[in-house]
Amino acid sequence: MSGDNAGIREFGFDTRAVHAGQRPDPYTGARAVPIFQTTSYVFEDPESAAAYFNLQEYGNTYSRIMNPTVATFEERIASLEGAVGGVAFASGLAAQAAALFTMLESGDHVVASSALYGGSVTQLKHVLRKLGVALTFVDPDRMEEWEGAIRPDTKLLFGETIGNPGGNVLDIEAVAALAHRHGMPLMVDNTFATPYLCRPIDWGADIVVHSATKFLGGHGTSIGGVVVEAGKFDWSNGRFPVVADPSPAYHGLAFHETFGMYGYLMKLRAESLRDLGGAMSPFNAFLFLLGVETLSLRMDRHVRNAVEVARFLSDHPGVERVRYAGLPDSPYAPLAAKYLPRGAGAVFAFDVHGGRRAGTTLIQSLDVWSHLANVGDAKSLIIHPASTTHRQLTDDELAAAGIGPGTIRLSVGIEDAGDLIWDLRRGLERVTAQTPEEVTA
Ligand SMILES: *Cc1c(COP(=O)(O)O)cnc(C)c1O
Repeated sequence: MSGDNAGIREFGFDTRAVHAGQRPDPYTGARAVPIFQTTSYVFEDPESAAAYFNLQEYGNTYSRIMNPTVATFEERIASLEGAVGGVAFASGLAAQAAALFTMLESGDHVVASSALYGGSVTQLKHVLRKLGVALTFVDPDRMEEWEGAIRPDTKLLFGETIGNPGGNVLDIEAVAALAHRHGMPLMVDNTFATPYLCRPIDWGADIVVHSATKFLGGHGTSIGGVVVEAGKFDWSNGRFPVVADPSPAYHGLAFHETFGMYGYLMKLRAESLRDLGGAMSPFNAFLFLLGVETLSLRMDRHVRNAVEVARFLSDHPGVERVRYAGLPDSPYAPLAAKYLPRGAGAVFAFDVHGGRRAGTTLIQSLDVWSHLANVGDAKSLIIHPASTTHRQLTDDELAAAGIGPGTIRLSVGIEDAGDLIWDLRRGLERVTAQTPEEVTA
């Protein structure tokens, strides 16, 4: 944003969602964010080229490390999250992997919520173990479990604002305070909430990661992710030599000492993104920026529709239970009131009577809802974990994962709520029309 007010007025969320990180292109006057589809950038002279590579000056070198279209997306999300900066990646899991890789080394230990996105569980359990990092999963609702799992070598606490499939709401303030008492950061995956519904940094979180693939993009077109940092954590407290000490991978640069509150993010970009790759494409950044412009409008509609659908389902005799933190009888309602005052998101699970058979019948009967494995699209999405993503599990194993044979996960879109409910009502009628033997088969 430009003009006399910039710098003295703190612009609101919606203004920043449309403008943050961009001015009209100085060369062409283009008002939309240009797609800088280029791999590399011509240096003005050998001295500035050297200064860029030494990180003495900030300038474009190569699009694996930075790109102007991607930079606008990074700055926009950082602004919306109340962070000092951000680094974008080719996917949410690439973002998370790089965020972890930058701060952890072999011999470290991480404590994470057990109610995480499935891909995150796999990444933490198997990829980190390969790198020599140990992991303990805890019930995110129990503070004593978080506390009890912390060891002298623990370097990070990690959870999701809204967990899956139970709709757990993380007590961010309490978990952040615990992390800080032990001299370590809290990292939060804010994908399901988006900064419009919750800003974890306001409650003490240090690092926020996103799968931009979901609500930030909002239209199911592109895969991407981003890491932002509050810039408040003291990486020089003696517990993070991997961030604070002179780096052999960057000719002895001490990132935290040199860049202060930007130290972790600089290391994330100049080393982890440089060396692991996984950069966001400029075209995807452009699509994510379009999505973010309407984030608040879409999230308000997503939430309003989710509440209507959840109410309909909880009143339906064919439904056993609805696990949506936005319903007043949810065990997470008090935490949702605190952390998610504008709504508890639009992804939640419910259980139909009649087990696996009822679940598959319901899904097959729908016209408006799309049966697929994604969330956060403008379109309403539905999946039956027991017959798809968790198909190989026995009923006992499903129960341990918080998934019943009749559990259905919804991502409520922005269509007419009446049509979404009409479709579900017809599907549930089809389920109850099955003979009892069919239902239990
Ligand atoms: C989808 C998702 C991810 C992974 O993101 P990708 O963009 O698919 O790599 C991580 N966390 C949550 C909560 C997600 O929904």
